[in-house]
Amino acid sequence: MDAKDEPEHRPVIRKPATGYWFEDGNVVLSADFGSAKKKGSPTELLFRVHKSQLSNHSKIFNDMFGLGDGMEQSSEMFQGVPLVHLHDSALDVKIMLAAIYYPLTLISIFDGNAKPLAKAIMLFRMLKKYDMTELMAEFIPHLTAKWPNSLSGWDRREDHIDMVIEDAQRDEMDATQEPEVYVPKTITITPDPVAAILFARYFDLKGIIPVAFYDLSRLDIEDDFDDPHCSGRPAQWSALPGLNYRSLLRGRERLIDQARGMLRMHSQKVPNHVKACMPGCAARYSEAFVLAMRLEEGNYDILRHLRHFASRYGGLAQDGTSHIYMQGGPCPSCCRELERGFKEVREAIWNKIPSVFR
Ligand SMILES: [Zn+2]
Repeated sequence: MDAKDEPEHRPVIRKPATGYWFEDGNVVLSADFGSAKKKGSPTELLFRVHKSQLSNHSKIFNDMFGLGDGMEQSSEMFQGVPLVHLHDSALDVKIMLAAIYYPLTLISIFDGNAKPLAKAIMLFRMLKKYDMTELMAEFIPHLTAKWPNSLSGWDRREDHIDMVIEDAQRDEMDATQEPEVYVPKTITITPDPVAAILFARYFDLKGIIPVAFYDLSRLDIEDDFDDPHCSGRPAQWSALPGLNYRSLLRGRERLIDQARGMLRMHSQKVPNHVKACMPGCAARYSEAFVLAMRLEEGNYDILRHLRHFASRYGGLAQDGTSHIYMQGGPCPSCCRELERGFKEVREAIWNKIPSVFR
């Protein structure tokens, strides 16, 4: 290799960054953008922005620019304004500036899907580095909204995910006549709990960790994010650090055990008005809870399981005058009682999630 080919002998190529070159900007930030394609010359992206914008959002920039006019004299100039080289990649700088100048364009990266969340991690690292805590706080609700802290919020999220998956599967079935090449696109459309756990641990957002763990606990480990042929809802299993598997498995078992315990208790404590109801109501009431204690193998989605039982008996209760009782079911009034019982267990299980998954 000739000396002239070595990187230090190649001229730096400087390019203005599209969307970040403001004619009235009073500082130019530069950041490395790798090497240009041809001869491998180092390339820098230049961002002509406003000191006041950076200072408003960042204590670090505020201190940097607050050093006064001396900066203009001591630093390198570019087209009449001071040039500041940042030791970050151009992509990192760009996403940080997007948070200041175009924040709405970044909201979708907090949707919870795996790849955009990697971008969110990149953004938050930069915001943290430059002490832009207020900006971070503005983005956090967009993420936490995907990991609700109430059971009703969780149910709305479930309905939404079910709908999104159904739509995607219908579209894909329409698009291909060969079912064997059918590949679900759930990879890109459903929130990834592993990404959420990593994000939450990194940035200390403890509130979303238990819900993300619960979400992950009912997914199949065979459905990996990296496998384009997985048939279920995928997660980035391979990205989950080892220690988390213990929390995951332990929490999953504990939650199921607690649910079984509660269901058993309900099956044994038949309310007096059910005992005094029509013949057979008490036995059927008890049987319903015993039946719910059985989960098919591999099913760890206890919330969905209990929701199914609650809505089943709620539906029967609404049937009112029909012949459910005649067909061997409990009377409508006892069905209503069962619905209440299943909802109660479900609410209790939801409340246990933060203590079992940590
Ligand atoms: Zn009854």
